[in-house]
Amino acid sequence: MAECIKADVVVVGAGVHGSSAALHLARAGRKTVLLEQFTVPHSRGSSHGQTRIIRKTNFGTPALAPLLEDSYRQWETIQAEVDEVLLRPSPLLVLGTKEKEALMEKMANSVREAGHAPQWLAPAHVNNMFGLGCGDDTMAFLDPSGGVLMADKCVGALQRLFRAANGTLLDGWPVDEIKVEQDGSVEVKGQRGRVRATSLVLCPGPWAAPLLAKVGVQIPVRVERISVLYWRVKDPHRTSSTSFVDVSDDRGHFYGLPDIEYPGLVQLCFHGGPEVHPDQRDKGDFAEIRERVMLYVKEKFPCLDPQPAIEESCMYTTTPDEECVIDRHSKYKNIVFSAGFSGTGFKIGPAVGRILCQLTLGHPPPCDLSAFSLSRFSKSKI
Ligand SMILES: Cc1cc2nc3c(=O)[nH]c(=O)nc-3n(C[C@H](O)[C@H](O)[C@H](O)COP(=O)(O)OP(=O)(O)OC[C@H]3O[C@@H](n4cnc5c(N)ncnc54)[C@H](O)[C@@H]3O)c2cc1C
Repeated sequence: MAECIKADVVVVGAGVHGSSAALHLARAGRKTVLLEQFTVPHSRGSSHGQTRIIRKTNFGTPALAPLLEDSYRQWETIQAEVDEVLLRPSPLLVLGTKEKEALMEKMANSVREAGHAPQWLAPAHVNNMFGLGCGDDTMAFLDPSGGVLMADKCVGALQRLFRAANGTLLDGWPVDEIKVEQDGSVEVKGQRGRVRATSLVLCPGPWAAPLLAKVGVQIPVRVERISVLYWRVKDPHRTSSTSFVDVSDDRGHFYGLPDIEYPGLVQLCFHGGPEVHPDQRDKGDFAEIRERVMLYVKEKFPCLDPQPAIEESCMYTTTPDEECVIDRHSKYKNIVFSAGFSGTGFKIGPAVGRILCQLTLGHPPPCDLSAFSLSRFSKSKI
């Protein structure tokens, strides 16, 4: 058996949350080892790809507001530190219908409460400005706080800064076993060796259920395979640098990002997908979702080719109420974890990392975490 590495903290999972937690811990002076099962960068979890939306428009619990505030600030600082563009301003177009008026008002209010002025637009204006085919019952506003995070670059930046803060990132290092020792310390084991630490942080993304089960935590999550579809812009004068989210459909949201990743192609996807095992993400028939998005594009986006030009895949880890879990083990206070970001967690990565660091150090968290506790799911046990 290979030599045992000793550390103050071991973090498992080098997606946006584990990388951010590891960076905070290393900067707090803790000897931190970050373990990742795949070779980084990789495209098998949830944080890969070039772009993610960041916005103050809040569809979820108001408890997310301080995490959003903190994350905007942290992304800007990280961007300055690495001297690379990580966050591109891109106002977010929020689309709904009069039937969804209450939700639209709630979302516009969240923008106002965050100190920005949502700009309401008439359907004809939206169609003219963005080349859309929205009906007369459309409600729409622009969230000026919107932006696009350069996802792969963001995760790379967090990992570079972590290493610069004397952190150790070991990739190609799947964790197979976790043992809590008599003295309360934790040992993680894999084929590559062992790491022993005072504290353990678990940020396993789609592998949350099997990894947390190793420390006796049951988390109710569903892993979904997301079809990431790219569409050719037929008329470049009729689109803009705007991202959008459309909450009109009762079956779920559609969302899109500008043509940053592939020249002339915008990303436009359905916010959800069929359940998959994270080790078998690409097994199955995903035609139903693709056809749903094709129909949507045909109806609402006449400025796009009606056939997708590229299809990639990613995974959501979704909880029953679609809010994330950020918590500590009820028995072992030195084990903390985050999971279940339900397709919306990238933007808040830096704030989640700070919270996980505070919990690990035994400091009070910077905000109320009750909305993110695991115990809110009555059947869950920790
Ligand atoms: C298509 C798509 C679009 C999205 N769009 C947005 C958006 O616009 N805005 C937004 O805010 N969010 C968005 N999200 C959600 C966001 O990307 C995720 O919530 C976030 O990336 C999750 O990060 P994570 O670190 O929790 O998980 P991951 O990135 O999956 O990281 C977990 C890591 O843990 C590793 N791991 C697991 N088990 C082990 C083990 N046993 N040993 C070692 N390593 C292990 C995995 O390999 C993985 O690298 C989107 C997600 C997808 C899929």
